Amino acid sequence: MSIQLRGVSFTYLAGTPFEKTAIKDINLEIRQGEVIGIIGHTGSGKSTLVQHLNGLLEPTRGEVLIDGVKLDKSKEAKVARRKVGMVFQYPEQQLFEETVYDDIAFGPRNLGLAAEETDRRVKQAMEFVGLNFSVFSGRSPFRLSGGQMRRVAVAGVIALEPAYLVLDEPSAGLDPRGRDEIFNQIMDLHQAAGMAVVLVSHNMEDIARMADRLLVMHQGTVLIDGRPDQVFTERQAELIQAGVDVPNITTVLRRLRRAGLNVDDRIITPPE
Ligand code: ADP
Repeated sequence: MSIQLRGVSFTYLAGTPFEKTAIKDINLEIRQGEVIGIIGHTGSGKSTLVQHLNGLLEPTRGEVLIDGVKLDKSKEAKVARRKVGMVFQYPEQQLFEETVYDDIAFGPRNLGLAAEETDRRVKQAMEFVGLNFSVFSGRSPFRLSGGQMRRVAVAGVIALEPAYLVLDEPSAGLDPRGRDEIFNQIMDLHQAAGMAVVLVSHNMEDIARMADRLLVMHQGTVLIDGRPDQVFTERQAELIQAGVDVPNITTVLRRLRRAGLNVDDRIITPPE
Protein backbone atom coordinates (compact mmCIF):
# COMPACT_ATOMS: atom_id res chain seq x y z
CA MET A 1 0.00 0.00 0.00
CA SER A 2 1.57 3.27 -1.07
CA ILE A 3 1.30 6.52 -2.97
CA GLN A 4 3.46 6.40 -6.06
CA LEU A 5 4.63 9.28 -8.21
CA ARG A 6 5.97 8.20 -11.56
CA GLY A 7 7.84 10.74 -13.62
CA VAL A 8 5.70 13.59 -12.29
CA SER A 9 6.30 17.12 -13.58
CA PHE A 10 4.09 20.13 -13.06
CA THR A 11 4.15 23.46 -14.89
CA TYR A 12 2.14 26.46 -13.69
CA LEU A 13 0.66 28.76 -16.34
CA ALA A 14 1.85 26.49 -19.14
CA GLY A 15 1.95 28.15 -22.54
CA THR A 16 2.08 31.70 -21.12
CA PRO A 17 5.10 33.96 -20.70
CA PHE A 18 4.83 33.28 -16.94
CA GLU A 19 5.16 29.53 -17.31
CA LYS A 20 7.03 27.92 -14.44
CA THR A 21 7.95 24.27 -14.06
CA ALA A 22 7.71 23.76 -10.30
CA ILE A 23 8.54 20.04 -10.07
CA LYS A 24 10.44 17.93 -12.57
CA ASP A 25 10.30 14.21 -13.26
CA ILE A 26 9.71 13.10 -9.69
CA ASN A 27 9.73 9.40 -8.88
CA LEU A 28 8.72 8.68 -5.33
CA GLU A 29 6.95 6.09 -3.24
CA ILE A 30 5.30 6.90 0.09
CA ARG A 31 4.48 3.73 1.94
CA GLN A 32 1.76 3.28 4.54
CA GLY A 33 3.13 3.73 8.04
CA GLU A 34 6.03 6.01 7.09
CA VAL A 35 6.65 9.44 8.56
CA ILE A 36 8.29 11.55 5.90
CA GLY A 37 9.64 15.06 6.39
CA ILE A 38 10.03 17.36 3.39
CA ILE A 39 12.40 20.32 3.61
CA GLY A 40 13.88 22.70 1.06
CA HIS A 41 14.25 26.35 0.25
CA THR A 42 11.18 28.47 -0.49
CA GLY A 43 10.18 27.87 -4.09
CA SER A 44 11.86 24.45 -4.28
CA GLY A 45 8.52 22.78 -5.08
CA LYS A 46 7.40 21.32 -1.74
CA SER A 47 3.82 22.59 -1.84
CA THR A 48 3.42 21.72 -5.49
CA LEU A 49 4.65 18.20 -4.78
CA VAL A 50 2.31 17.52 -1.88
CA GLN A 51 -0.69 18.84 -3.78
CA HIS A 52 -0.19 15.94 -6.17
CA LEU A 53 -0.53 13.36 -3.42
CA ASN A 54 -4.32 13.56 -3.39
CA GLY A 55 -4.87 14.77 -6.92
CA LEU A 56 -5.44 18.41 -6.01
CA LEU A 57 -3.04 19.21 -8.83
CA GLU A 58 -2.90 17.00 -11.91
CA PRO A 59 0.58 16.29 -13.23
CA THR A 60 1.52 18.02 -16.47
CA ARG A 61 3.49 14.85 -17.16
CA GLY A 62 3.67 11.51 -15.37
CA GLU A 63 1.16 9.82 -13.09
CA VAL A 64 0.16 9.40 -9.45
CA LEU A 65 -1.22 6.16 -8.01
CA ILE A 66 -2.81 5.69 -4.60
CA ASP A 67 -2.74 2.06 -3.45
CA GLY A 68 -2.38 1.05 -7.08
CA VAL A 69 -5.22 3.22 -8.40
CA LYS A 70 -4.18 5.79 -11.00
CA LEU A 71 -5.56 9.25 -10.28
CA ASP A 72 -7.65 10.11 -13.31
CA LYS A 73 -11.31 11.02 -13.74
CA SER A 74 -12.61 7.57 -12.79
CA LYS A 75 -14.85 6.72 -9.85
CA GLU A 76 -12.12 4.50 -8.37
CA ALA A 77 -9.75 7.46 -8.41
CA LYS A 78 -12.28 9.56 -6.52
CA VAL A 79 -12.50 6.91 -3.81
CA ALA A 80 -8.70 6.52 -3.69
CA ARG A 81 -8.19 10.27 -3.24
CA ARG A 82 -10.19 10.13 -0.03
CA LYS A 83 -7.46 8.02 1.54
CA VAL A 84 -5.27 11.11 1.63
CA GLY A 85 -6.05 13.85 4.15
CA MET A 86 -4.49 17.28 3.60
CA VAL A 87 -3.84 19.97 6.17
CA PHE A 88 -2.62 23.19 4.63
CA GLN A 89 -0.94 26.21 6.12
CA TYR A 90 -3.39 28.13 8.25
CA PRO A 91 -6.11 25.48 7.88
CA GLU A 92 -8.31 27.43 10.27
CA GLN A 93 -9.02 29.80 7.39
CA GLN A 94 -11.14 27.01 5.93
CA LEU A 95 -13.42 26.72 8.94
CA PHE A 96 -16.91 27.87 8.07
CA GLU A 97 -19.65 26.07 10.00
CA GLU A 98 -21.49 27.56 12.97
CA THR A 99 -20.29 25.03 15.49
CA VAL A 100 -17.12 23.07 16.06
CA TYR A 101 -19.18 19.88 15.78
CA ASP A 102 -20.59 20.75 12.38
CA ASP A 103 -17.22 21.78 11.07
CA ILE A 104 -15.59 18.49 12.00
CA ALA A 105 -18.66 16.54 10.84
CA PHE A 106 -18.67 18.21 7.42
CA GLY A 107 -16.29 15.71 5.80
CA PRO A 108 -17.85 12.52 7.22
CA ARG A 109 -21.33 13.76 6.28
CA ASN A 110 -20.09 14.49 2.80
CA LEU A 111 -18.89 10.89 2.57
CA GLY A 112 -22.51 9.94 3.20
CA LEU A 113 -21.78 8.34 6.57
CA ALA A 114 -24.66 7.66 8.95
CA ALA A 115 -25.26 10.06 11.84
CA GLU A 116 -23.97 7.63 14.47
CA GLU A 117 -20.77 6.95 12.58
CA THR A 118 -20.28 10.67 12.00
CA ASP A 119 -20.82 11.26 15.69
CA ARG A 120 -18.28 8.60 16.65
CA ARG A 121 -15.70 10.10 14.32
CA VAL A 122 -16.24 13.66 15.53
CA LYS A 123 -15.85 12.58 19.14
CA GLN A 124 -12.77 10.54 18.41
CA ALA A 125 -11.15 13.28 16.33
CA MET A 126 -11.80 15.87 19.04
CA GLU A 127 -10.30 13.59 21.64
CA PHE A 128 -7.25 13.09 19.46
CA VAL A 129 -6.59 16.78 19.07
CA GLY A 130 -7.26 17.40 22.75
CA LEU A 131 -10.54 19.32 22.51
CA ASN A 132 -13.02 18.41 25.22
CA PHE A 133 -16.26 17.40 23.51
CA SER A 134 -18.72 18.82 26.04
CA VAL A 135 -16.83 22.10 26.27
CA PHE A 136 -16.16 22.75 22.60
CA SER A 137 -18.59 20.89 20.33
CA GLY A 138 -21.35 23.52 20.49
CA ARG A 139 -19.08 26.56 20.27
CA SER A 140 -18.49 28.73 17.26
CA PRO A 141 -15.09 27.90 15.75
CA PHE A 142 -14.54 31.60 15.22
CA ARG A 143 -14.52 32.36 18.92
CA LEU A 144 -11.60 30.05 19.66
CA SER A 145 -7.91 30.82 20.06
CA GLY A 146 -5.60 30.34 17.08
CA GLY A 147 -4.28 27.05 18.44
CA GLN A 148 -7.77 25.74 19.13
CA MET A 149 -8.97 26.68 15.65
CA ARG A 150 -6.02 24.84 14.20
CA ARG A 151 -6.99 21.77 16.19
CA VAL A 152 -10.57 21.93 14.92
CA ALA A 153 -9.24 22.06 11.37
CA VAL A 154 -6.93 19.09 11.97
CA ALA A 155 -9.79 17.18 13.63
CA GLY A 156 -11.89 17.73 10.50
CA VAL A 157 -9.25 15.94 8.44
CA ILE A 158 -8.68 13.20 11.00
CA ALA A 159 -12.43 12.50 11.07
CA LEU A 160 -12.09 11.32 7.47
CA GLU A 161 -9.77 8.58 8.82
CA PRO A 162 -7.20 8.98 6.06
CA ALA A 163 -4.54 6.31 5.50
CA TYR A 164 -2.13 9.10 4.55
CA LEU A 165 -2.02 12.46 6.29
CA VAL A 166 -0.24 15.30 4.50
CA LEU A 167 0.58 18.44 6.45
CA ASP A 168 2.04 21.55 4.82
CA GLU A 169 3.64 23.70 7.54
CA PRO A 170 0.99 22.76 10.10
CA SER A 171 2.68 24.66 12.91
CA ALA A 172 3.01 28.00 11.10
CA GLY A 173 2.09 30.85 13.42
CA LEU A 174 1.66 28.71 16.55
CA ASP A 175 3.63 29.30 19.73
CA PRO A 176 6.05 26.54 20.86
CA ARG A 177 3.47 25.00 23.14
CA GLY A 178 0.78 24.90 20.48
CA ARG A 179 3.32 23.44 18.09
CA ASP A 180 4.35 20.69 20.49
CA GLU A 181 0.73 19.80 21.12
CA ILE A 182 -0.15 19.50 17.45
CA PHE A 183 2.88 17.33 16.75
CA ASN A 184 2.41 15.09 19.76
CA GLN A 185 -1.16 14.51 18.70
CA ILE A 186 -0.18 13.72 15.14
CA MET A 187 2.45 11.26 16.31
CA ASP A 188 -0.05 9.64 18.69
CA LEU A 189 -2.40 9.20 15.79
CA HIS A 190 0.34 7.78 13.64
CA GLN A 191 1.17 5.26 16.34
CA ALA A 192 -2.45 4.38 17.07
CA ALA A 193 -3.73 4.14 13.52
CA GLY A 194 -0.52 3.38 11.60
CA MET A 195 -1.34 6.29 9.32
CA ALA A 196 1.45 7.55 7.06
CA VAL A 197 2.42 11.15 7.72
CA VAL A 198 3.99 13.53 5.21
CA LEU A 199 5.15 16.72 6.86
CA VAL A 200 6.41 19.81 5.04
CA SER A 201 8.22 22.04 7.50
CA HIS A 202 10.87 24.71 7.81
CA ASN A 203 11.31 23.62 11.36
CA MET A 204 14.23 21.20 11.68
CA GLU A 205 13.32 20.38 15.23
CA ASP A 206 9.92 19.09 14.18
CA ILE A 207 11.43 17.13 11.31
CA ALA A 208 14.23 15.63 13.42
CA ARG A 209 11.77 14.64 16.11
CA MET A 210 9.17 13.06 13.88
CA ALA A 211 10.42 11.88 10.52
CA ASP A 212 11.97 8.52 9.80
CA ARG A 213 12.62 9.53 6.23
CA LEU A 214 13.66 12.92 4.89
CA LEU A 215 13.23 14.39 1.42
CA VAL A 216 15.23 17.48 0.52
CA MET A 217 13.75 19.39 -2.42
CA HIS A 218 15.89 21.58 -4.63
CA GLN A 219 14.79 23.36 -7.80
CA GLY A 220 11.82 21.09 -8.34
CA THR A 221 13.58 17.79 -7.76
CA VAL A 222 14.17 15.50 -4.80
CA LEU A 223 17.87 16.14 -4.19
CA ILE A 224 18.17 13.79 -1.18
CA ASP A 225 16.00 10.96 0.09
CA GLY A 226 17.32 9.32 3.26
CA ARG A 227 17.21 8.82 7.00
CA PRO A 228 17.32 12.19 8.78
CA ASP A 229 20.34 11.35 10.95
CA GLN A 230 22.28 10.16 7.91
CA VAL A 231 21.27 13.15 5.86
CA PHE A 232 22.25 15.60 8.58
CA THR A 233 25.61 13.92 9.24
CA GLU A 234 26.76 12.70 5.87
CA ARG A 235 25.23 14.93 3.25
CA GLN A 236 25.88 18.43 4.46
CA ALA A 237 27.39 19.62 1.21
CA GLU A 238 24.17 18.81 -0.61
CA LEU A 239 22.09 20.40 2.13
CA ILE A 240 24.07 23.59 1.68
CA GLN A 241 23.58 23.36 -2.07
CA ALA A 242 19.83 23.13 -1.43
CA GLY A 243 19.99 26.30 0.66
CA VAL A 244 19.23 24.52 3.95
CA ASP A 245 20.74 26.22 6.97
CA VAL A 246 23.17 23.57 8.28
CA PRO A 247 24.57 25.43 11.33
CA ASN A 248 20.96 25.94 12.36
CA ILE A 249 20.35 22.19 12.08
CA THR A 250 23.36 21.59 14.30
CA THR A 251 22.02 23.84 17.03
CA VAL A 252 18.60 22.26 16.86
CA LEU A 253 19.96 18.73 17.06
CA ARG A 254 22.18 19.61 20.02
CA ARG A 255 19.17 20.99 21.80
CA LEU A 256 17.19 17.85 21.07
CA ARG A 257 20.00 15.69 22.41
CA ARG A 258 20.14 17.77 25.57
CA ALA A 259 16.41 17.22 25.89
CA GLY A 260 17.03 13.47 25.91
CA LEU A 261 16.27 12.62 22.30
CA ASN A 262 18.45 9.98 20.73
CA VAL A 263 20.52 12.02 18.29
CA ASP A 264 23.61 10.48 16.74
CA ASP A 265 26.86 11.51 18.44
CA ARG A 266 28.61 12.40 15.21
CA ILE A 267 26.24 15.30 14.86
CA ILE A 268 27.65 17.77 14.09
CA THR A 269 30.54 19.99 13.42
CA PRO A 270 29.29 22.87 11.34
CA PRO A 271 31.12 23.11 8.02
CA GLU A 272 33.94 25.69 7.76
P1 ADP B 1 7.69 25.70 -1.89
O1 ADP B 1 6.49 25.05 -1.32
O2 ADP B 1 8.93 24.84 -1.77
O3 ADP B 1 7.94 27.08 -1.41
P2 ADP B 1 6.14 25.90 -4.34
O4 ADP B 1 5.71 24.54 -4.75
O5 ADP B 1 5.15 26.78 -3.66
O6 ADP B 1 7.48 25.79 -3.49
O7 ADP B 1 6.66 26.69 -5.63
C1 ADP B 1 7.51 26.12 -6.59
C2 ADP B 1 7.66 27.09 -7.75
O8 ADP B 1 6.40 27.24 -8.41
C3 ADP B 1 8.08 28.49 -7.32
O9 ADP B 1 8.94 29.01 -8.30
C4 ADP B 1 6.78 29.26 -7.29
O10 ADP B 1 7.00 30.62 -7.57
C5 ADP B 1 6.00 28.61 -8.40
N1 ADP B 1 4.55 28.66 -8.11
C6 ADP B 1 3.92 28.16 -7.01
N2 ADP B 1 2.59 28.37 -7.08
C7 ADP B 1 2.37 29.01 -8.24
C8 ADP B 1 1.19 29.50 -8.90
N3 ADP B 1 -0.03 29.35 -8.36
N4 ADP B 1 1.37 30.12 -10.09
C9 ADP B 1 2.58 30.26 -10.65
N5 ADP B 1 3.73 29.83 -10.10
C10 ADP B 1 3.63 29.21 -8.91
